[in-house]
Amino acid sequence: SPFATKKYSAMFENFIEGESNKQAFLASKMIAHNPGKQYIPLFIYGDSGLGKTHLLQAIYNEVTDKKPELKTLFLTSESLIKRVVDVLYKDHDAIESFKEELMSYDVLLIDDIQFLAKKEKTNEIFFTIFNHFIENNKQLVFSSDKSPDNLNGFDKRIITRFDMGLTTSIKTLDFETAVLITKAEIKIQGIRQSISYEALNYLATYYADDVRKIKGSISKISFWGIQNEVVKEIDMDVISTLFKDVSTANLGILNVKKVKEIVGEKYGVSVKSIDGKARTANIANARHLSMYLVKNILNHSLSQIGTEFGGKDHTTVINAVNKIENLMNTDKNFKLVVEVLKTKILSK
Ligand code: ADP
Ligand code: MG
Repeated sequence: SPFATKKYSAMFENFIEGESNKQAFLASKMIAHNPGKQYIPLFIYGDSGLGKTHLLQAIYNEVTDKKPELKTLFLTSESLIKRVVDVLYKDHDAIESFKEELMSYDVLLIDDIQFLAKKEKTNEIFFTIFNHFIENNKQLVFSSDKSPDNLNGFDKRIITRFDMGLTTSIKTLDFETAVLITKAEIKIQGIRQSISYEALNYLATYYADDVRKIKGSISKISFWGIQNEVVKEIDMDVISTLFKDVSTANLGILNVKKVKEIVGEKYGVSVKSIDGKARTANIANARHLSMYLVKNILNHSLSQIGTEFGGKDHTTVINAVNKIENLMNTDKNFKLVVEVLKTKILSK
């Protein structure tokens, strides 16, 4: 077959799962373990750089590994279109044998299906193949940058079929997932220099819309080295911003209210309740952490902070700051949460 078969480096094992991609990840694993059983097709959509191709290739790897008796093919739309154009130049028989070739597979994965839109002949060939897979309980998997509803340039009957199996999306990364991916990538690329929380969090915040950019920025670091001055000249935008001391950045526009807002958002409580007297766990925690951050970032005096938090005693502020410091020393996760919030506050 002119379609090459090979293994891909993208696997389930090296896919980082988080809130934004959990559903698509689970669906992909389910399909990989049980292809052709229940959901035909699996349709994964989402913006560029969020892991669609990764998941399709992981399914491919898993199926070819665990079920070698199945004929499995991963195709980019590009290579599919190329083949179609090629056979269209030939004769009817060429088209038929091309269809038959594709229909001989048990599992067919097509990446970036949006590129097949508005290609009339491709649409037609595709429809036949599509029906064949559905009728014979064979697995189809598609990825696309748009949901079936928003995919223009396909026949209505094809759109309907896109949506009749299992449709799932990958959303822009939430901050925690972006941090995990960034950390994993630093490890993968074998960067030995220590990277500050600030730098890490900055990367995760800045590039959460595209994992490819996270990887790219880390490659640059790994290539040039963090200390290398050249880096700053080469990529002002990425690297120098990344390693500028964010702990002193933006202090001019920072104020107590911003700290309360960001911490309050994290704990799901209002600024008003942070300033108030209620001692519900969430409210008290948000209040103590806000006090700590105002001390730590803005360096206000204890009595000043007391006043800024609805007229509280300075001993209340000392207790709050001590409590947070102790927690940070004993609980690494909490420390990370605080650092993350700090970065968020400083990068606003
Ligand atoms: P898409 O196809 O949606 O444009 P890709 O699957 O090509 O995105 O992902 C871009 C890059 O980011 C790839 O190198 C991929 O391996 C990596 N990537 C994306 N999401 C994750 C994730 N959750 N965990 C690990 N790597 C990821
Ligand atoms: Mg892709």
